Amino acid sequence: MERCEPSNGVLRYGDLIIPYGVTFSPKRRERIKINVHSDGVVEVEAPADATREAVAKAVQKRARWVHEHVVSARSRFAHVLPREYVSGEQIIYLGRRYSLKVRHVPRLERSVKLKGALLEVAHEDTSRDVIRARVRAWYRMKARDYFSERIAIVARSLPWPQDMPDFRLKEMKTRWGTCAAGGTVTLNPFLVRAPRECIDYVIAHELCHLREHNHSPEFFNLLTRVMPDWQRIKIRLDDMAEVLLND
Ligand SMILES: [Zn+2]
Repeated sequence: MERCEPSNGVLRYGDLIIPYGVTFSPKRRERIKINVHSDGVVEVEAPADATREAVAKAVQKRARWVHEHVVSARSRFAHVLPREYVSGEQIIYLGRRYSLKVRHVPRLERSVKLKGALLEVAHEDTSRDVIRARVRAWYRMKARDYFSERIAIVARSLPWPQDMPDFRLKEMKTRWGTCAAGGTVTLNPFLVRAPRECIDYVIAHELCHLREHNHSPEFFNLLTRVMPDWQRIKIRLDDMAEVLLND
């Protein structure tokens, strides 16, 4: 099957411009098929002998259907678009969704507070970079408090005597945590966005590395003793990773 560039056609509906790719397939007879993928990308499959005009006409005929599906797919994917740090944007904390509220205040009234379903950031400069820095600092502070509390609790549940390990925070693009040979546990502050059980899973995983330094069968046996359903929780965390790490 031959694949064409995705800028093959453009559908205009209202003020929305929807580009689509066209694939001409010798196997397809007569009908033109329109697919709207889960990320809002539109692909059209057409018989090999269909003209571009015929394809454009077929897409235009179903414009309303395409438009509806594209808009709903794009909104479902909106959470993985780059954040803008403006009021109304979603903030995730301990697995719950809050709405960001940005307020312009004099310098002395600066604050960052959770208020019901809102994370309210008040600052004299409401530009994206400043609000982003304030939100990140807030996550970091919450992560430090919550992780140290949970490390103490998970460490106590381990089947071997365990001192409180050293721990530090480090922003990482692709990892939730690491454990150095010397015993220092490093956790990603953005893990504080995850549900509580996912945070405990990452902590349990890293603390098991204090005993088993690699991912040997012994390591996973140990982890299973500490947290019998870790595999379910890992899948839950993996499924959310893209959203939780988006900054
Ligand atoms: Zn590991």
